[in-house]
Amino acid sequence: MTITSKIILAYTVVFGITLAGFAFVIYHSTRTAELEKLDARLDNHATKLQEEIEEIENSGERLLFEKLSRIQTEGLSGLRFRLVDKNGIFCLGDSSLTRLSIPPWPTNEHIPPRREYVTINGQIYRSLWLPADVHGTVVYDVQLVGPIIEMEENLRRLQFIFLIVAPVALLLTALAAFFITRIAFKPITSMIHTTRSITASKLDSRLSVPQTKDEIRELAETLNEMMERIDATFRTQRQFVADASHEIRTPLTIIRSELEFMERHAGKLEAEKSLRIALEELERLSRLTDGLLLLTRLDSPGFVLKIRPVRLDELLIECVQNLKSATVQRRVTIELHIDNAVEVPADRDRLKSVILNLLDNALHYSPVGGVIHLSLTIPSNDALQIIVEDSGPGIAPNDLPFIFKRFYRADTERARENGSGLGLAIAEQVVHLHNGQIRVESTLGVGSKFIVALPFSSS
Ligand code: ADP
Repeated sequence: MTITSKIILAYTVVFGITLAGFAFVIYHSTRTAELEKLDARLDNHATKLQEEIEEIENSGERLLFEKLSRIQTEGLSGLRFRLVDKNGIFCLGDSSLTRLSIPPWPTNEHIPPRREYVTINGQIYRSLWLPADVHGTVVYDVQLVGPIIEMEENLRRLQFIFLIVAPVALLLTALAAFFITRIAFKPITSMIHTTRSITASKLDSRLSVPQTKDEIRELAETLNEMMERIDATFRTQRQFVADASHEIRTPLTIIRSELEFMERHAGKLEAEKSLRIALEELERLSRLTDGLLLLTRLDSPGFVLKIRPVRLDELLIECVQNLKSATVQRRVTIELHIDNAVEVPADRDRLKSVILNLLDNALHYSPVGGVIHLSLTIPSNDALQIIVEDSGPGIAPNDLPFIFKRFYRADTERARENGSGLGLAIAEQVVHLHNGQIRVESTLGVGSKFIVALPFSSS
């Protein structure tokens, strides 16, 4: 069942119940009012009849039906009466009433009128009994009977009106609900159409945002924002796959051509050189795939760091020791500056690979005899910094914003032939996973300074 149908149904049911309740109240109050009106007219006639009887009895005249029946012609048509004496004997009046039962004899003239419904020839009448007295003694019990046809007709008219009005009103309500919901849901219907048309290859479509300031506008804006994020992620993924394929293709092409060369020159000296090149490219390929694999793992939502307390001062010393032979080989010195022994919760292996990568880059770009400064500082109570500073060629200002991007390599003289362009991207991702930040400051011809800031609590 659609929301539109549910709203129409709810509207109609609620309105139907309200209408039925309203009709019930009107019908019953009208019925009570009509009955009171009939009773009042019967009372009026009864009093007149009573007075007439008493007057005639007092004057000693003969009590005649004709005389008394005058009274009934003055008002209510169809009014009948009868007089019954103490013994329950019919004395005067309409003989058609003699078949009706007689109530107990009234004890005095002051008892209130006794009212009831009676049936004569299948028709319902309203009946009233009133005592008539002479000098304080009840002589007759008088019954007046009035037809309720007029009342019933009025009520039937009312019923008829309700029967006509109610379905029309319900139909109009359902139609109104239908049109209101159609207008209200029009933007949603259009959203459904647009959303249906969106596929992975058509992620640039956006929902039209209604001009109204309501929840539907908010929904459209939120969905558009979500689609924007999905689109951006898809574009990044596509770019990543394209870049990765491109990066993989180059060493593969080299390996293939070197192997073909070896095939042609098998046993010759040149073949050995080709074998070495092919092996180097294989090495580069395997580093690249390792990097790609690691980045994919770091990106996956299920990846968690193995967080343990790590002594950073010890970790930095270990990194320097690991690079000892490389520094000797390149005749570069690493100077270590440690303010304090610091322990932080971190993934030791991942953090070590970040520092090693920064040191490795610094080593690569440092001139022979250069000095690399590796520092551990605590600039504030809630942050610490690991700084790798070299005296290399520096990074051009137009390359600076991109060097943390995947596969980005500045096109410089000293750029590494076998670099993958993934090292800094991996470092940035690992630092982010530690809730830290990595940035670079560099001046061409002076050197580069990579700063890793990590959250830290001094207490
Ligand atoms: P690569 O494997 O190519 O070194 P990285 O992600 O580690 O990949 O570095 C990306 C690029 O950033 C490098 O190609 C280089 O151009 C630049 N770069 C990184 N570190 C330094 C540095 N210490 N000095 C100068 N340029 C650097």
